[in-house]
Amino acid sequence: MNQANQPSTKNNWTVVDSTNLYGLNRWGADYFSINQKGHITVSPKREEDSSLDLMELVKELEDRNLTLPLLIRFDDILEDRLRQLHQSFEKAINQYNYKGRYQGVFPVKCNQHRHVVEELMTCGRRWNFGLEAGSKAELLIALSLVEDSKALLICNGYKDQSYIETTILARQLGRQPIVVIEQADEVERIITASNELGAAPLIGLRAKLSSRSSGRWGNSIGENAKFGLSIPEILRTVEKLRNANLLNDLRLLHFHVGSQINDIAILKDALQEAGQIYVELHRLGAPMGHLDVGGGLGVDYDGSQRATEASTNYSLQNYANDVVATIKECCEFNNIQMPILISESGRAIASHFSILVFNTLGTSTIPEKVPPNTGQESLIIRNLRETLANIKQIPENSSIDSSKLQEAWNDTLKFKEDALNAFRLGYLKITERSVAEELTWSSAMELSKRLEYCDVIPEGLTALHTNLSKTYYANLSIFRSAPDTWAINQLFPIMPIHRLDEKPTQLGHFADLTCDSDGKLARFINSGEVKQLLELHPIKPNEKYVIGMFLGGAYQEVMGNLHNLFGSTNSVHIRVTSDRGYRLDHVVRGDTKSDVLQAMEHDPEELLERLRIASEKAIQNRKLKISDASRLIDHIETSLRKSTYLT
Ligand SMILES: *Cc1c(COP(=O)(O)O)cnc(C)c1O
Repeated sequence: MNQANQPSTKNNWTVVDSTNLYGLNRWGADYFSINQKGHITVSPKREEDSSLDLMELVKELEDRNLTLPLLIRFDDILEDRLRQLHQSFEKAINQYNYKGRYQGVFPVKCNQHRHVVEELMTCGRRWNFGLEAGSKAELLIALSLVEDSKALLICNGYKDQSYIETTILARQLGRQPIVVIEQADEVERIITASNELGAAPLIGLRAKLSSRSSGRWGNSIGENAKFGLSIPEILRTVEKLRNANLLNDLRLLHFHVGSQINDIAILKDALQEAGQIYVELHRLGAPMGHLDVGGGLGVDYDGSQRATEASTNYSLQNYANDVVATIKECCEFNNIQMPILISESGRAIASHFSILVFNTLGTSTIPEKVPPNTGQESLIIRNLRETLANIKQIPENSSIDSSKLQEAWNDTLKFKEDALNAFRLGYLKITERSVAEELTWSSAMELSKRLEYCDVIPEGLTALHTNLSKTYYANLSIFRSAPDTWAINQLFPIMPIHRLDEKPTQLGHFADLTCDSDGKLARFINSGEVKQLLELHPIKPNEKYVIGMFLGGAYQEVMGNLHNLFGSTNSVHIRVTSDRGYRLDHVVRGDTKSDVLQAMEHDPEELLERLRIASEKAIQNRKLKISDASRLIDHIETSLRKSTYLT
């Protein structure tokens, strides 16, 4: 027999078969593989010698009473993604001889957890990596965590007077916040705030592009989008800024075509359009200097490398090349200086580093015994029994004629249908109907065993597996831990993290323990398509069956896993400084706290405290007046108290 054509059976299944089946080489971005034990390994630095056996890791975490379900974050992966993003842009900048640099920001909404943002700030320091804030609460996080005076702080979202004043004061504090005007009336508030404080913020404009938009957020962009200025609005805004003497602070053009852009052509169109607008703004007399291409850099969740829902038809490098090349061409043609390029890539940075690991508690059962013959069965039941006997006579080996299996299944379905009709009309007792159903299951099971020997499964029998599929009960709240799977039908790679040297002989989906009809995971990646059932192993009695959900570090995580890692500062330390000034090192605050921030593991008191320390420094350096410093702290304290403003 030809070895290569022999289908893998239970006995000769290898980890290579599992790798192919679950596709982890295609979506894993070189972070995941399978070892000879059949366990998933994680190589956070994409090097074999620093790899961890995920199953062993889970066991050791469990030994420390960290029980499943568990969200495991690999900070090295986060750092590696950040490095790859920067390397891709550096490479493109060199290749196209771009006269400018790339300076990214992380959109805080993508993963607001304190140590995630902190980690990104720490390892992003060497590139002056900054943050993007989309609300007041995020602005607060961004203000306190960006300590690098060169890092950018892009301020999006709805902005009231105090938001704008905060950014002006933060600029005086030595930060680089850029307030992006997204709605036409925001310019008035910027002008008012600037007059009030006698200082201006750095200003950006968000353009509403007419180019096609992308993905499931597609309708939030384009000409009817909620955010962004139309061309007439841009022109009016420029004039207003000019009249208010603020045109000199207009430094950035921003656009955002939606998250998870899956087709690179969409990005190219947007870049060309934005490039022209940038040139025109320059012509109108704004100094500009920054072009922010927003988010949207996609993640290939299913590894199909196609412009489909869960994939992208481009790589990180393609993306960087297109941004750099398009903007270079545009600026060169118009003979203007090339801007600093900014992207607000969230998903591309934060998806890979976290894995949600959960165990299964059991499966639904399928009747597996052949019901005994009572000797007085009706014709319909006898037909079903006879069909089952015929199936059993088909030998279980590779000489199987698949058309015979098909025929037997057709007969079974026909007789089962007869049984149901007879029951409906009152000719079949409920006990007989039960026997009919059990016989149908038995036939399906016998057929399915034989299908394993067929190279090609006849079309009519592909659904047979579905009939035999099981529900695996997951020890998880899908609502909490995998919200995007139900909220927006996001697909994530899901697979067992062990037993991968064993053939998965069962098909199933997951249901969680919440009795919630949404508590179901029944959409799985399938090379560009979606499948409803996943290949799984039969659960062994006394052994945990452990499943991993991958690439969920962006958005997804924000709602799950809430624990507070550190307590609050609760003493006041005043220090006298040499220049006869003083410094507040620690302050005890009242009971004004934001639960939202705390839930994301930020301690509002400490955030405030850090800003207080920073403003003390600015006071000492005579950059900030004491009254302005107290105004800044006031704004932030107020917004902390008003949790309704926090999103
Ligand atoms: C959500 C969002 C982002 C992040 O998008 P990703 O696709 O995660 O990179 C960036 N900018 C703005 C304005 C956003 O709304």
